[in-house]
Amino acid sequence: MTKNVVVAPTMTNESLAGPTWQGRIGAIVLVRGGLLLAEAAEEAAEHAALAGKCRRGRWCLWPLRGYRCVVVGPGDGVHGLCLVEVIGAFDLRHEPDQIPVLHDLRFKTNGAVGVPFGLTAVVQVHPHPELVYASPQHVGIDAAVAQRVDHPAGPVLFHRPKVAGLRDCKILFGPMAQRLNPSAGGPSAGDPLADDPLASAPPAFAYEAAQQILRDGFGLTGSLTALAGERDQNFRVDTAGGQRFLFKISNPADTRPVLDMQTAALRHIEQVDPGLPVMRAIPCPGGDPWAEVAGPDGRTYPARLFTFLPGRPMAVTALTTEAIRSIGQTTARLGRALRGFFHPAADYEILWDITRLPALRPILGHIPDASRRAQVARVLDRFEAQVAPVLPGLRAQVIHADLHSSNVLLGEDLQVSGIVDFGDMTHAPLVCDLAVAIADMLYGRDDAIDAAEDLISGYVAVTPLEDDEAGLLADLVAARLAADITLATWRLGVYPDNAAYAAGSEAGAPAFLDSIEAAGLDAVAERFRDACRGLPYRRSATASLAGRRRRALPRSPLFYDHPVHLVRGEGAWLFDPGGRRYLDCYNNVPVVGHGHPRVVRAVAEQQRLLATHSRYLHEAIVELAERLQATLPPALDSVIVVNSGSEANDLAWRIARAATGNAGALVTEYAYHGLTEATHALSPEEWAAGERPAHVGTVPAPDGYRGAYRRDQAGWAERYAAHADEAVAGLGERGLAAMFIDPAFTADGILAPPPSYLHEAARRVRALGGLVIADEVQAGHGRCGSHLWSFRPSGIEPDMVVMGKPMGNGFPVAALVVKSDVLGAVPEETELFSTFGGNPVACAAALAVLAVIEDEGLVENAAEVGGHLLDGLRALQQRHPVIGDVRGEGLLLGVELVEDRQTRVPASGQAHQVVEAMRDRRILLGTTGPAGNVLKIRPPLVFQRDHADLVLENLSEVLSA
Ligand code: PMP
Repeated sequence: MTKNVVVAPTMTNESLAGPTWQGRIGAIVLVRGGLLLAEAAEEAAEHAALAGKCRRGRWCLWPLRGYRCVVVGPGDGVHGLCLVEVIGAFDLRHEPDQIPVLHDLRFKTNGAVGVPFGLTAVVQVHPHPELVYASPQHVGIDAAVAQRVDHPAGPVLFHRPKVAGLRDCKILFGPMAQRLNPSAGGPSAGDPLADDPLASAPPAFAYEAAQQILRDGFGLTGSLTALAGERDQNFRVDTAGGQRFLFKISNPADTRPVLDMQTAALRHIEQVDPGLPVMRAIPCPGGDPWAEVAGPDGRTYPARLFTFLPGRPMAVTALTTEAIRSIGQTTARLGRALRGFFHPAADYEILWDITRLPALRPILGHIPDASRRAQVARVLDRFEAQVAPVLPGLRAQVIHADLHSSNVLLGEDLQVSGIVDFGDMTHAPLVCDLAVAIADMLYGRDDAIDAAEDLISGYVAVTPLEDDEAGLLADLVAARLAADITLATWRLGVYPDNAAYAAGSEAGAPAFLDSIEAAGLDAVAERFRDACRGLPYRRSATASLAGRRRRALPRSPLFYDHPVHLVRGEGAWLFDPGGRRYLDCYNNVPVVGHGHPRVVRAVAEQQRLLATHSRYLHEAIVELAERLQATLPPALDSVIVVNSGSEANDLAWRIARAATGNAGALVTEYAYHGLTEATHALSPEEWAAGERPAHVGTVPAPDGYRGAYRRDQAGWAERYAAHADEAVAGLGERGLAAMFIDPAFTADGILAPPPSYLHEAARRVRALGGLVIADEVQAGHGRCGSHLWSFRPSGIEPDMVVMGKPMGNGFPVAALVVKSDVLGAVPEETELFSTFGGNPVACAAALAVLAVIEDEGLVENAAEVGGHLLDGLRALQQRHPVIGDVRGEGLLLGVELVEDRQTRVPASGQAHQVVEAMRDRRILLGTTGPAGNVLKIRPPLVFQRDHADLVLENLSEVLSA
């Protein structure tokens, strides 16, 4: 599409200083390459400032009477664009504090600001003073210039044009430039402004003339019914034979390449998604895609014929949830169908394009109501600050760009039956189509924000959105509504004759924008972002959620006096609905960090590809089993994949009984091994008062700080192990089937006995006829910092190893690895199978976790950061007498609080208070141990030194308080 070149009158200082222009002038600025905004250069200056790229000669800064000037030098620019020229100015009718000011400052060839000569510059109030740096190197400025920058507040930006060449100039704001020159009339033949379709008067052929065009151009006769159109003249054609067509006499300002693009796009859609309800373009009998018709005004009008789509535009208030979802789906399908489409005219520039919102600033003055005008200006300010910088990174393609309620037809079943009007098609971010659909299909509804969520859910069911797109959606909707309001009022001024149409397009937009502002744009953005995730639940306020939870899940425990409401996690951080982040020092499930992309991807892809049970041949479960085998002593050669630690321990218990013929078990005094009936019996931590299953014997955990044997006594650990003998004696005739050992004794208070304990315990258990089961559910997967499995340093070879919790980084998966001779005791006819156990999704998650642990060196990280944290905690112990003991390995650390270091009375209450106080500081810890006086630090293994420092700093303050 060619653009006219307009040589705009150069403003003089005098004219700027005059009463008419002073403080009331905006600029029309062009950049090389076609973009038009002063903001482009502003953005470049900001980027440079943000990146601290203050290089002398490239851009420089002057203090200017309390203002700062930023000069964008050669080579700066956004997306390879640079300012070319200021080509005009116009009255903005802005609020006094929002006045951009145009100065025709001239820059000398050496870069200094001087008296007017040569190049032109733009001066603007800078919306982000904090981004404008002061530089002590440059203090001088031409006094005449300083005088002229006479603005009441705020820094100003000077954008220095790179090239002055009016031949590079293109004009987009015809009507506005026109307003500068009151002698110019409306669009007319030969008027360069006629090049702007929005500024160009729509065709207005009489009925008979239209019929004749149809006959001459397409050999078709029929009755014509006028249809609505913003800038074209549209008719429905009913032929005598009962056929229906859409007949469109286009605006002469629509250039032929643009019309060609529309025709090509319709053909492309037909090819890619033939089921999409769009019109088919019907060529002229001679094969031309449209007919050229001379109008009475001397202009040439293209006339086109299309198939007529069934259905009708619906009142937005009549749309059901299903209809709204269908609109969302169709919008997404349309985007998909156009994904591979390209046309040289796709750089079609149109003011309705949301991405050009800042270009509307000069016409905000047309909004008569000051508060409405201020509201729209707020949307623009935010758009420039937060949206525009992100837009260039979004997926972009040719989009429809005008999914307005009058362009989407619905059938009797309220499903989309037609999408019409491809006249606004342009190359823009894909998500803009969704934003337009939300804004323009839903305004006028009282529940527009709720309905938007339905529309979004329909869209993402077809095309998931990327994070940046989802995050910008609410802003883009607000931007479109702002454009609706602005352009409708502006057009009303320019084309009073088209008042009905313009007013129609405005109705409801202000109310929708009001409701977004009332709810808070950030809050709406969060809701939309949630809806984009396609999750099947709705956000709920924390207080009401807690109430609902109490009623529906009365026995599900919650941490903390003030439970934490979490919506998302990333790495070592968790986030609440308000976006506040919490440092996760407690959770071992997300072992490779919350939301690790490799695991997320593995799970999502596998779920999409195949999710079934394990009774078919599939690679994932086999690879997982082989990988687990490779991490264990060779005798541990049989893998059974299940769903939880409890299930794995339960199965281990069954196998142990079958293999030994015995019926008794040993566990430590405060152990936890699971939730099922069998594993609950093995979990003294959870026994009710007086509960003690007869088949379970307990031994004291090897607590060298407060137990019967202390670390300073020789052979203390082995002495704990020796308790196995008497405990088994207590089992009587049942005999010992197995001892379950969590090698880190997590529930017992996080103990780290020397390797000799496990060694001696295993030796005795075997001598007593039992099996040794290492429960690695807590301590495994690299947490201890030396090996993947925490029993490894002891050199023992357990008969079974149980793994779970962190295994899928949150996806439920657990496993039991057992020696085949032990497993052989289970009768062949007993099938060891669990429906979800070892399903491809779980195995994909588990494989991804193992790969990440290895690739990211997380075992080493656990040792390194865990060591740093341990040192820091020991240093705290020096200063805080309440810390009786600090112990643990890798990233599984315990801090035992005591009332008194001599008596070692557990400071259980204080431990609780510390955890609560840390929670209030958004650092999540827990407690453990029989007395609940041990602070439990067990973060994801991606924990870093600075996370550890944050814990130490806060813990120190809390302990000092
Ligand atoms: N064993 C140990 C050592 C555990 O810590 C747990 C869970 N805390 C389990 C077994 C039970 O695992 P799950 O909750 O997955 O059933």
